[in-house]
Amino acid sequence: MSQKINYLDRILNGKTSVGIAGHVRPDGDCVGSTLAVYNYIKEYYPHIYVKLFLEPIPNIFKFLQYSAEIDSNYADSTKFDLFIALDCGDLGRLGNAADFFSAAKSTLCIDHHISNQSFADENYIYPDASSTCELVYEVIDTDKITKEIAECLYTGIVHDTGVFQYSCTSAKTMEIAGVLMEKGIDYPKIVDETFYTKTFSQNKILGQALLNSELYLNGACIVSVITQKEMEKFGVLPKHLDGIVNQLRITKDVRVALFLYENGDGTWKGSLRVNGDFNVAEVAICFGGGGHVKAAGFTIDGPADVAVARVLNEIEARL
Ligand code: 5GP
Ligand code: MN
Repeated sequence: MSQKINYLDRILNGKTSVGIAGHVRPDGDCVGSTLAVYNYIKEYYPHIYVKLFLEPIPNIFKFLQYSAEIDSNYADSTKFDLFIALDCGDLGRLGNAADFFSAAKSTLCIDHHISNQSFADENYIYPDASSTCELVYEVIDTDKITKEIAECLYTGIVHDTGVFQYSCTSAKTMEIAGVLMEKGIDYPKIVDETFYTKTFSQNKILGQALLNSELYLNGACIVSVITQKEMEKFGVLPKHLDGIVNQLRITKDVRVALFLYENGDGTWKGSLRVNGDFNVAEVAICFGGGGHVKAAGFTIDGPADVAVARVLNEIEARL
């Protein structure tokens, strides 16, 4: 790890403007990693003009320092000296921030997606890392991790490892988490309030998703679909559906879980999770998506039953 120390400092050297962004529909690792880098620059490079672009983030992450400074309007005319993409496997996943990235004088990508195509000038890509937050931890000096930066990094690691539970969790992940815990963060609160706590409506839609679920391929695959009408009935948005696919995955004897929800423009967002040995990133890539071996996603044309049949075909071919 030592040769990586100060990697970010070396890249920031001489820059006067830095843009940062993560993927569309930001999750814990995306919010945590981007805000960690934003906090780092604000703390140690006060002369740099820094801007963080993200789609509106879930309320649970708003306790993180400077989350209120996130620009979700993408209104900035700066041609950045450096643009940093975090937790993003390809340019398209940057959404509205892609234009800033393309226009920047230099670019850096820090990511852990196996599907990452190294699309920046500098690429810090390690698919074995549990999370992008684990990689951000590596590229900054441990002594310079403030309590506020530690909160960002811990939140991201907790979310991408399912509270240190998924197989992406390594001994190194635990060591890093240990160092972050010593920075004075309220770690049980972060776990409870950002990972486990669900609103009443979220629990209701989870219940609906479980009621809608069906087994396919002799029980090897569980599928659930949520329509826009159902989301309206329970008053939830797509960002409130996080965690449903994981609940499907822990069904006994299931190997692959597929969750689809309706986007409203004729397309459906798909999420795949796996138990044991199966590569769902390959399946997601068939539909123009990507992700990790054990957790991947994509967007697919409807109607839902046709979409489900197409995905099941690709899964069956690989089982
Ligand atoms: P989720 O199912 O939670 O949306 O995503 C699981 C993983 O796959 C995450 O790491 C996420 O970044 C990635 N992912 C989800 N949807 C897409 C997509 O449409 N394209 C790509 N390239 N990755 C995705
Ligand atoms: Mn991630």
